[in-house]
Amino acid sequence: MDPITDPSIVDAYLTDASNLHGHASGLYRPRTAEEVAEVLVECQRTGTPVTVTARRTSTTGAPVPDGGVLLSTERLDRVHARDDVDGGVLLGEYQAGVEREGWMFTPDPTSRNECSVGGAIACNASGARTFKYGPTRPWIEAVQLVTPTGDIRWVDRTTPLPWPVPAWTEPKVKTAAGYYPATNLLDLVIGAEGTLGVVTRARVKLLPLPAGVLTLFTWFPDRASMLAFVVTARTMGPRCIEYFDRRSLDLIRGRVPSVPVADSALMLEIEHDGEPPLEVWFDALAAHGALLDDTIVADDDAGRAKLHAVRHALPATVNEIISRTGVQKVGTDFAVPAGALAEMMEAYDEPTPGAIPTVCFGHIGDSHLHLNFLPRDPAELAEARRRYLALATRAVALGGTVSAEHGIGRLKKAHLALMVPPAVLDGWRTLKRAADPNWILGRGVLFDP
Ligand SMILES: Cc1cc2nc3c(=O)[nH]c(=O)nc-3n(C[C@H](O)[C@H](O)[C@H](O)COP(=O)(O)OP(=O)(O)OC[C@H]3O[C@@H](n4cnc5c(N)ncnc54)[C@H](O)[C@@H]3O)c2cc1C
Repeated sequence: MDPITDPSIVDAYLTDASNLHGHASGLYRPRTAEEVAEVLVECQRTGTPVTVTARRTSTTGAPVPDGGVLLSTERLDRVHARDDVDGGVLLGEYQAGVEREGWMFTPDPTSRNECSVGGAIACNASGARTFKYGPTRPWIEAVQLVTPTGDIRWVDRTTPLPWPVPAWTEPKVKTAAGYYPATNLLDLVIGAEGTLGVVTRARVKLLPLPAGVLTLFTWFPDRASMLAFVVTARTMGPRCIEYFDRRSLDLIRGRVPSVPVADSALMLEIEHDGEPPLEVWFDALAAHGALLDDTIVADDDAGRAKLHAVRHALPATVNEIISRTGVQKVGTDFAVPAGALAEMMEAYDEPTPGAIPTVCFGHIGDSHLHLNFLPRDPAELAEARRRYLALATRAVALGGTVSAEHGIGRLKKAHLALMVPPAVLDGWRTLKRAADPNWILGRGVLFDP
């Protein structure tokens, strides 16, 4: 296969949602696993770095090339059977297809309508429903993998580890930072951010589509009552508990007509599937002082779509603003143990010098919030990064993770080193060298040689 070298085509592949910009000498768009293998064998022979790029919704620079060539998965685009799908297929389109047949593929990153199935597997993506169903990993039964040396093989949880994986214990929170302490090849490759092989095809696990889904938007007069409610709500079987601060809602008010309005600054979204017990939720809300008169209920697809528009518009608007300003994204993706959530939120409240605007929202059920900085110039960007580093250090000290779902990519390597001991990082380097002798795949992602 010859690479495309026309800059008017290649240039469109050189950035992602983090607004990091890279460079590459060529672009491959293989249609089959065999063509992927051909590219990797040739690049292994010449020692040419290869960056796998899918839909470039990463917020960490993971698909942004630092030289070498790009390998796009966009033409690996077939759905072979209901539970058997190519890595380049758009996640949202695949999900809509199985839902029409009465099935649910649960991983639901907010970017589901823009990202690929393979990208979600490579990043072990999470979403609001992760609170109930977990991240992408448990929903993948097997993948067709092209290894960095060009071998094509199906791997599942019976496939032994061909490379040495160092022992380490992940923080006991939702996390997507570094290699998983796997005992089989499938679990190792999920979440490896495209550094241990290309996922060309996947066999997934589906659930019957729930009969009903209830969505509630509700407000609290103060943080203490909201957090007390979250503790209760976690025991009530919802599929998500999401948080939005006032500044988040104000940010998108102009572009999403369905943004709810209330006097309070503290909003939660709760979703419950199966047999949604509306009265039970209202009793719990009332017991914790929620503002019931302002609470909005949606129990049909149209109502839910309006409320989901709010959830999606937020990260998209943040990314547009940073892209317009020309700075890189600085947004936290930390999760902490449930007992440390209040302390972490207090840390998020501490003002930044110069009052850099921020918005805070996210998966409060998993104690996983995104504090996004909106720096207006390079000086504010530097200040936001200092603040971010201090917060990352705090999250790790509290027993948390530096990345709960977005991964490490190129931009968060220094933060990974805050939570992973040097001996484990060295063990990962040994693993990577065994898998990829010339370190061609995803060079500069996760950690450096
Ligand atoms: C508005 C917005 C909302 C988001 N919300 C969420 C969220 O709720 N939860 C969440 O987890 N993430 C979220 N993200 C981050 C991002 O969407 C996910 O990480 C997504 O899984 C990336 O998929 P992609 O197809 O865009 O991959 P890319 O961004 O193109 O690539 C991401 C990484 O995966 C690797 N990769 C991609 N495809 C393959 C493959 N087939 N084989 C091997 N490696 C591969 C790439 O090399 C790269 O390292 C959000 C991003 C945006 C912009």
